[in-house]
Amino acid sequence: SGNRLYLGMDFGTSGARFALINKDGDVCAEGKREYPLYKSHEAIDWARSWKMTLFSLLEDVPNHYRHLVASISIDGTSATTLIVDSNTGQPLSKPLLYNESCPDALPLVKSIAPVNHTVCSASSTLCKLVSWWNSADSNKESATLLHQADWLLWFLHGKLGISDYNNALKVGYDPEIDSYPPWLLAQPYSQLLPYVKAPGTSIGNLKEDIRSQFGFPNDCIACTGTTDSIAAFLAARATLPGQAVTSLGSTLAIKLLSSNRIDDARFGVYSHRLDNMWLVGGASNTGGAVLRQIFTDDQLQELSKQIDPMKTSPLDYYPLTSIGERFPEADPQMAPRLHPRPESDVEYLHGILESIARIEGKAYRLLKDLGASEVEEVLTAGGGSKNEKWTKIRERVLGLPVSRANQTEAAYGAALLALKGAQS
Ligand code: ADP
Repeated sequence: SGNRLYLGMDFGTSGARFALINKDGDVCAEGKREYPLYKSHEAIDWARSWKMTLFSLLEDVPNHYRHLVASISIDGTSATTLIVDSNTGQPLSKPLLYNESCPDALPLVKSIAPVNHTVCSASSTLCKLVSWWNSADSNKESATLLHQADWLLWFLHGKLGISDYNNALKVGYDPEIDSYPPWLLAQPYSQLLPYVKAPGTSIGNLKEDIRSQFGFPNDCIACTGTTDSIAAFLAARATLPGQAVTSLGSTLAIKLLSSNRIDDARFGVYSHRLDNMWLVGGASNTGGAVLRQIFTDDQLQELSKQIDPMKTSPLDYYPLTSIGERFPEADPQMAPRLHPRPESDVEYLHGILESIARIEGKAYRLLKDLGASEVEEVLTAGGGSKNEKWTKIRERVLGLPVSRANQTEAAYGAALLALKGAQS
């Protein structure tokens, strides 16, 4: 099995990518596709776009590698939901996208779910299911709920109704008891819920027609996937409790591997299961978007060069692009604080970068106070990860080793799940 390869595919918000890796995690091939925008009745036919993209990506996998592919896994955007015919797999209505809201279902969902449960949000998968159930008049008895990744994997393995416990969290699956909870199973639509496995678990061999169409080998398997943001976390290869990934994009998001589960709706903190650990996450409204309002990316580079990261900045800001913060301070009224502005732009940028680092530190402390494992090492993803001065500032402020993640593509994380599924 020395030269076998593992294929991961990521279906994100703006396009899809694949990564093909070997058992050591080296990338042999990768590629990306924008979603082609098919229309039907003036609306974008997302199901068709995703399906076409899946097949385009499979064709993009270099021919000479295909016979070596041992397994395939796919991640998709969280809470992107399809209700399909249980016999044909055809969507019974248009897919409900990750950010689509079904407020009509919220009162009912709130009346059956525990207080502050993750399903109690109008864009949760469960609200989408309930909204469909209450408006559908036919086919209700022979329907299946699938997440985007589940549905795309189905084209490869052909077994309808299989998901993973990361994707299924927002429909109400309880990864702690490894089952749907009794309050959900008591509902008439519970028959639509998919069977749930751990991410990166073999579902079965590829369908014969897929194997022969693309030249994948007889023993090639399809494995359960995860959500796109968990796949991006997995890409960084944090594997032990205390290891974390800070994502410095437009906003600041942190994800920490923890031995214990914590959930706190006040701060928007919740945990996903990853085998025998928990992936604890929280997202702040501070981050790179504020930097972009003040400086161009070129200025950021030039000014950063002149910062002495060993020096403590006395400037204490709370950089936000608009009013309101949730994590690590739950204050919907919090105003952005970016004053006083010193004459020197170098000092100003230093103060902002250091203030964001302090917020990051506060975020990890809060997770610990809420009961999570203490952070020991921070990997970094996103646009801010390339700023070496900022990395040094963060090392000093956090008092921890901080480095840039080698891999941050979700497709790479999905390929690691394919590898895991093939090895077990
Ligand atoms: P997202 O995907 O969330 O939009 P990215 O991961 O692409 O964000 O990162 C973009 C952010 O990175 C921008 O908001 C920008 O301010 C920040 N950024 C770009 N260059 C630098 C730099 N040299 N130092 C710090 N931040 C930077």
